[in-house]
Amino acid sequence: AKANGKNQWKRYEEATHAALLRRMQIRVDLDEALRTGAFLLEYQPVIDLKTGVTAGFEALVRWHHPSRGTIAPAEFIDVAEESGLIVPLGEWILNRAIAEAASWAKASATPPYVGVNVSARQLRQPGFVDTVLTSLRRHGLAPDRLVIEITESLLLTDQGNGWSDLRTLREAGVRVAIDDFGTGYSSLSYLRQVPADILKIERSFIGNTPHSDKQRALVDGIVRLATTLDLAVVAEGIEQPAERDVLAKVGCRYGQGYLFSPPLDSDSATRWLQRDWI
Ligand code: C2E
Ligand code: CA
Ligand code: CA
Repeated sequence: AKANGKNQWKRYEEATHAALLRRMQIRVDLDEALRTGAFLLEYQPVIDLKTGVTAGFEALVRWHHPSRGTIAPAEFIDVAEESGLIVPLGEWILNRAIAEAASWAKASATPPYVGVNVSARQLRQPGFVDTVLTSLRRHGLAPDRLVIEITESLLLTDQGNGWSDLRTLREAGVRVAIDDFGTGYSSLSYLRQVPADILKIERSFIGNTPHSDKQRALVDGIVRLATTLDLAVVAEGIEQPAERDVLAKVGCRYGQGYLFSPPLDSDSATRWLQRDWI
């Protein structure tokens, strides 16, 4: 048993060592990737559950690594945060997403919004508000066609500068979404004050709704609370028709998930919109 424990420990050490090396390598490669333009955005439709119309798209970053193929954001966003590279990367993402949304707007009477994920370091960066407003102006996108997505946990920890920047952006017409809601233990008084327009219910709350009365009651409560506070609600990670039906029934207006569509590349998103208009 002792030898077994030792082996396990060794395996554990090797695994953490490998993980550390991988992170270091990612950090080096990220610099290069930003210079060579190896990032791209995909766009996942957000659907109006009442009408089936596409209300917006969430922009999700992808990294095309020369030897490792496509790397998911979960693997590099926190490394980019640590190294500060998230600031130039985030600026690129914001500009790219805004340019894309401007092209949708040219082709539609009721253009979809674009949702952009913004991380802690980016929000705290001096000049963040300016970066956003300048990009909107440069691409000629109406401010209300941009939604800034901030996680609930970040909003909880950053009530100083972050909140005032978000207030300024909202005064200019930009909308703010509370991302991953349900994971951050927000209090009621906090929710009443938070500078936001949209609440996105985290995926883990959605999956069990068709099978669990408790889970359904919980989601029902979140939707009522949000509605009372004038927040529009988006349910994340809808994979089953039964989940969509439960959410529509409790009054959740918007949904996102593989049931409707996975994240799409730029061309497919444009085609998706054309299909919508027929
Ligand atoms: P998120 O903001 O919660 O984004 C939703 C994630 O759920 C995306 O993963 C999306 O592909 C995935 N998803 C969508 N529908 C379904 C579904 O029906 N089932 C399941 N199982 N998953 C679904 P992705 O693209 O890997 O992104 C992961 C996280 O990385 C994002 O979570 C976000 O926190 C972060 N991220 C992605 N793009 C960016 C970005 O441009 N900037 C920053 N700062 N973070 C980003
Ligand atoms: Ca998000
Ligand atoms: Ca989310």
